[in-house]
Amino acid sequence: MIPVVEQHHCSKRHRNSTYFARCAWPGASVTGRGQLAIVITCPDARVVLVERLRWAHTLLAEFNVFGCGPGCEGAHEIVAIDLDPDLPPFPAQRSPNPEERPR
Ligand SMILES: [Zn+2]
Ligand SMILES: [Zn+2]
Repeated sequence: MIPVVEQHHCSKRHRNSTYFARCAWPGASVTGRGQLAIVITCPDARVVLVERLRWAHTLLAEFNVFGCGPGCEGAHEIVAIDLDPDLPPFPAQRSPNPEERPR
């Protein structure tokens, strides 16, 4: 199981995982889209959003093998973002949208 992140730093309800990520991990650059996040808390903090767990694992493996940057400390993990509860849960529903690539 991957950890689910529900906590962020404001009282709004985020419907978009990009906004959620910016709120939950201030100072980290946020790229991609999707409800899974590779959270990098190395000195070069960033959050990479992806839609599919398979991509998340692929990216995480790349970060772990090659490092996320010059100051990499190996602090990378996959989390799921828990958005507004009236949105469909992940990963019960696959995106019907084929135009999705992790980068
Ligand atoms: Zn927030
Ligand atoms: Zn790193």
